Amino acid sequence: MKTQFEVGIIGGGIIGQSIAYQLAKEGVSVLILESNKIGNGATSAAAGMLGANSELENNDAFFQFAKESQQHYHVLRDELSQISQINIQFVDKGMYKLAMTDAEASALKDVVKYHESVEWHSKEVVLESEPTLSATIKGALYIPEDGHVSPYHVCAAFSKSARLLGATILENTPVHEIKKTVTNEYTLSTPVTDFVCKNIVIANGVWSGHFFKKLGLDAGINPVKGECLSIKSNDIGLEKTIFYDHCYIVPKGDGRFVIGATMVEDDWSTVPTIGGIQSLIEKVTPIIPSISSAQLIDTWAGLRPQTIDGKPYIGQHPEGENIYFATGHYRNGILLAPKTGLMIRDLILNRKQNEDYVKAFSVNRLQVQTMR
Ligand SMILES: Cc1cc2nc3c(=O)[nH]c(=O)nc-3n(C[C@H](O)[C@H](O)[C@H](O)COP(=O)(O)OP(=O)(O)OC[C@H]3O[C@@H](n4cnc5c(N)ncnc54)[C@H](O)[C@@H]3O)c2cc1C
Repeated sequence: MKTQFEVGIIGGGIIGQSIAYQLAKEGVSVLILESNKIGNGATSAAAGMLGANSELENNDAFFQFAKESQQHYHVLRDELSQISQINIQFVDKGMYKLAMTDAEASALKDVVKYHESVEWHSKEVVLESEPTLSATIKGALYIPEDGHVSPYHVCAAFSKSARLLGATILENTPVHEIKKTVTNEYTLSTPVTDFVCKNIVIANGVWSGHFFKKLGLDAGINPVKGECLSIKSNDIGLEKTIFYDHCYIVPKGDGRFVIGATMVEDDWSTVPTIGGIQSLIEKVTPIIPSISSAQLIDTWAGLRPQTIDGKPYIGQHPEGENIYFATGHYRNGILLAPKTGLMIRDLILNRKQNEDYVKAFSVNRLQVQTMR
């Protein structure tokens, strides 16, 4: 078994796989160590929305990064399908953010004034394209760029492509410890064997907090549990993703509708509760009254990795060690995975970086702010 690599990545979710793919494409020898199965963490719980415009409100570096990441899915759709033969199920029919009251309609109409990628659609226009929605809606903000993918298929496509390009990906291989060698490399200790890598990437989602502490960094990651359900119904037909009051309905290509997601802070359980699922159904019923006759297919829960300011950590160890962080992607890891893979690739290969992104996502940004 090969035990020496240029880059060792801890965590085989969508973030670790995206990084491995970009590095393997450049001919770098990459290892991914995944404690469970590929994509089994938050990645497989996600609805797959690419909500750059619907999720982020400020026109800052984070928003630009998210938009570039969203755009990169157009490239990845073809690239990953050519290499891996896996269809990432990218649907770019946009999203409707609904208004159910006059006050909500007026607030959404205001967004059109300063946001060039969105349009206001009247109730009549919305109901013509989405007749399943309740006639009590007041209209909707149309966000054409916010499509969706299948997170499971994106992760599998990155993983298979990385493997075909030479990456080594090991499942059921948890990293217990990181140690520095006398030659300034890093040993990743696992129950299988020790692996020695010149660079390492911490990409194990909500579980990364353990390594932050071990590396002496005070940058916490907290779990925010999200519960979802999926349904099927011949009475419901939706083209676009529907978003209202933190709740969404995503029409998937296989005929299912994914409804999500609750937000439960500091809860490490991945078991969905009756209360959580009930709250989602209560939110959706006024929007799509025919949901009551739908067939319940599945319920599940996952843990979003949340940082203190809600932005991910994407960058190098503050003391210049060859340790990189790609974690804390919170509600938007599927959206942000493509650009995170590119940014970590460029950092490791010492290529030119966008300094606004380096600052916005640096691991010690919060300490720096406190000291000022
Ligand atoms: C209900 C829900 C809905 C969501 N919807 C969306 C959405 O619509 N759009 C969007 O963009 N984002 C969404 N998200 C957020 C998104 O799922 C996450 O931000 C993203 O999956 C994080 O990916 P990751 O690779 O960092 O983490 P994960 O997918 O959790 O992967 C981390 C991996 O590390 C492994 N690991 C842990 N410890 C170790 C160790 N010591 N050694 C080796 N491996 C280890 C784990 O087994 C896991 O597989 C949603 C999240 C949830 C919970």
